[in-house]
Amino acid sequence: MRDFSNDHRWLSINTATVRRQKGEEVGLARIIDQCAEHGVRAISPWRDQVAAAGLDKVAAQLRAHGIGLSGYCRGGFYPAPDAAGLKAALEDNYRAIDEAKTLDAPCLVLVVGSLPGALAGKAAYTDIGRARNEVFDGIAASLEYARKVGMPLAIEPLHPMQAAERACINTLEQALDICDALDPQDSGMLGVALDVYHVWWDPKLQQQIARAGKKRLLAYHVCDWLTPTRDLLNDRGMMGDGVIELKKIRGWIEAAGYAGYSEVEIFSTQDWWQRSGEETLATCIERHRSVV
Ligand code: ZN
Repeated sequence: MRDFSNDHRWLSINTATVRRQKGEEVGLARIIDQCAEHGVRAISPWRDQVAAAGLDKVAAQLRAHGIGLSGYCRGGFYPAPDAAGLKAALEDNYRAIDEAKTLDAPCLVLVVGSLPGALAGKAAYTDIGRARNEVFDGIAASLEYARKVGMPLAIEPLHPMQAAERACINTLEQALDICDALDPQDSGMLGVALDVYHVWWDPKLQQQIARAGKKRLLAYHVCDWLTPTRDLLNDRGMMGDGVIELKKIRGWIEAAGYAGYSEVEIFSTQDWWQRSGEETLATCIERHRSVV
């Protein structure tokens, strides 16, 4: 297993971690400068942040700083109540793939969606089996486009507490079954983004990581699971402050061949988003070296 204790060259910052600082929204250009000041070599930005800052400007700023991407957040949200909605979702995914290419991302992360409308408070239908079929078809179509562009797709299984609103793919096994069905040749163009927050509890985690292997493990997201958790979405903990055995899980993915970044992804309305970006980034670096 790689030794992270001496430097943070394998640390990536998911820009959601510092998108709010001292309670205020911060633009991506400022976040990239802060990451550069802290010697961070990679980030994973969100589409809305990139759109607000300007795609070409972001690409140029990253090049100027020599900062790469560990992923691009995010595509997905395939299910829709009708054909027009399905088509619109697919076209949006094609745009996300093109943006990821412009930013030279190693993969586009997919949060696949579930019951359409549920995120806004009113599901247009309640058949999660139908949602899963629409997700499968959506990934299949996206993959065809992604192959032409040369942009790998990383399915992110989400914790089942988010099965209604955000993703009907909830375990690594389920994600890998889709990978095997759509990409049986294991081409490197379809894999998973493994986020410890979503999968740490899974009794099949170690076994499924071994099944995934190097080619399917496209991204690795870290944070921690707090007890108690006060909010289903925005109460993620800093690594070391919760119950996830981070080094054990990293040992498993590295045994499977993963040698990429550990990307810190923390949504934290009540804690880290109330602190300064400097404090949050310095803590990410310190914890990366000591507990990741
Ligand atoms: Zn994640």
